[in-house]
Amino acid sequence: TKQIVLASRPKGTPTTANFRTETITLSEIKNGEVLLKPNYFSVDPYMRGRMNDAKSYAEPFQIDKPINGGVTATVLESKSNNFKKGDCVVGMLPWQVQSVVSEKGLRKIDTKVVPESYYLGVLGMTGLTAYFGLMHIGKPKKGKTVVVSGAAGAVGIVVGQIAKIQGCRVIGIAGSDEKGNLLKEKFGFDEVINYKTTKNLEKEIAKFCPNGVDIYYDNVGGAISDAVIANINFKARIALCGQISLYNSTETPVGPRIQPMLLTRSVLMQGFIVGNFSTDFPEGIKHLSEWVKDGKLKFTETIENGFDNLPAALIGLFKGENTGKMIVKV
Ligand code: NDP
Repeated sequence: TKQIVLASRPKGTPTTANFRTETITLSEIKNGEVLLKPNYFSVDPYMRGRMNDAKSYAEPFQIDKPINGGVTATVLESKSNNFKKGDCVVGMLPWQVQSVVSEKGLRKIDTKVVPESYYLGVLGMTGLTAYFGLMHIGKPKKGKTVVVSGAAGAVGIVVGQIAKIQGCRVIGIAGSDEKGNLLKEKFGFDEVINYKTTKNLEKEIAKFCPNGVDIYYDNVGGAISDAVIANINFKARIALCGQISLYNSTETPVGPRIQPMLLTRSVLMQGFIVGNFSTDFPEGIKHLSEWVKDGKLKFTETIENGFDNLPAALIGLFKGENTGKMIVKV
């Protein structure tokens, strides 16, 4: 079978040369293992961090070893008591066209009610990230003003809609007018600011948030966050979810010294990783699935085709090539 390995560690933005495709022979399946045929691969911004040789909450990828990440797959053969041939599963799997893996860590999914790929997005890690970051850290209340950066991405699109469900006014920040129009027309955002064409982001945020920003859900960090924080309200809450604008930085970034703002306005700013909330995942999944079934929570995906396009799809995240969840279908 084919697999994609990390060939070298990137300096700055990754390129396809940092990956290599090779052919391997799979081992025989042993007791407690299954043979899988992956259908949908998730590519996610956190994978960039795993390409560095640095300790973080997720293990670094190893040179010459396959990349791994969220995947949905069909069971082709099983020596497991928990899974049978034909079952559909989700798990952290290697980037291989077929794989032999332990049953541990696999979870059966029901693809009759929602599309299979949703288990990598709105009903998977990204949906849970949006839910817990907003509900448990942002704590939205009716009438509050919520700003979300990275608004047209997998997490941001869900954050904005949950904030609307909670009765908030929602302002998104995204990288194109097409994304902005979609967020307003299909996903119910009140306003969207295109950070690439807006000359003075701080003033534009002030214009759309005349009463200030009560909750900031931060997916991007950097200059965009500086501009939001300049408009932050007294006792505002900031959920620090992602810093994608800095993931490819080769130097320590500097910016306006925002701390006095956080102090004088008594702001709560909390970073988190979705795993912090693992004991509450059933609560999150329950709400997300109900909202999806009731049509209150919509979702969208950018689906690239072909196993060989996995590296390009991952790199595409840093160029804003996706709207909603970036997925690779094989
Ligand atoms: P997205 O679907 O949002 O994809 C990334 C998007 O980020 C792109 O589409 C692009 O949109 C935007 N972007 C890329 N580069 C920049 C830049 N330099 N400045 C501003 N925006 C940029 O990814 P996810 O929804 O999966 O993840 C969103 C964030 O949440 C990431 O930072 C990720 O690391 C984080 N995350 C954190 C988790 C946690 O546990 N804390 C779990 C999951 C995700 P545009 O066109 O608008 O520029």
